[in-house]
Amino acid sequence: MAACIFCKIIKGDIPSMKLFESDKTLAFLDIMPLSKGHSLIIPKHHGAKLTDIPDDQLAEVLAVTKKIAAAVGAENYNILQNNGRLAHQEVDHVHFHMIPKPNESEGLGIGWPAT
Ligand code: 5GP
Repeated sequence: MAACIFCKIIKGDIPSMKLFESDKTLAFLDIMPLSKGHSLIIPKHHGAKLTDIPDDQLAEVLAVTKKIAAAVGAENYNILQNNGRLAHQEVDHVHFHMIPKPNESEGLGIGWPAT
């Protein structure tokens, strides 16, 4: 979709810190991380809501999310997927957040949910 910011990232029209790419899935670092390693994992198929995404694409996104968590060394983390404005969805292209939860002593960010 031409106006979609994540479709532009997929096309390479907007730069991103890519972590993984396949024909169906892209993973990249969030531009405003809540903690070190905060990543976004998205299907390449454009759809605003979870129900818009084919099951095979969702399955790969979840499998990649698991691998990204391991790759960035996250032991404690939250997976977050917002649907709709009232649920705080800002970008209308389905995405899964992988948000590492650092130990307080590590001081790697504010974390989510707030402590
Ligand atoms: P939402 O609130 O829709 O679940 O989260 C959207 C996320 O996309 C936010 O965490 C925001 O920081 C991230 N984001 C928005 N625009 C860009 C961008 O251009 N590049 C990257 N890497 N992340 C973005």
